[in-house]
Amino acid sequence: MKDNIIRTAVCPLCGRTYHGAPALSREDNKTLICPDCGTRQALRSIGVDTAEQEQIIGGDKSKFVMVDNMEWFNVFGLIFIAVIMIPNVVFAIKCKDGFDNKWNNKYVEVIE
Ligand SMILES: [Zn+2]
Repeated sequence: MKDNIIRTAVCPLCGRTYHGAPALSREDNKTLICPDCGTRQALRSIGVDTAEQEQIIGGDKSKFVMVDNMEWFNVFGLIFIAVIMIPNVVFAIKCKDGFDNKWNNKYVEVIE
């Protein structure tokens, strides 16, 4: 029989519940910490600063932020285009009679 029980433990460093193989703290070589903290300590030991550690560990999160930014950019782009279009639409409605009188055909409307 295989031992399929997923062990969960609370990391003493960050206080988060994690499951899977724990990492051994590099500071005392006996404390079991979560894989993220293990990565943090490993990165710190090679001189990676805290901000960069979080960037490496939270790689998936930063991707989500990028997706959010893209959505915001698209929304702003949509508003921007809508704002640009408003004068055109207003102009087209106001001057429809003028166009009809001057050219009196659907040619202009098609071009428009
Ligand atoms: Zn931790």
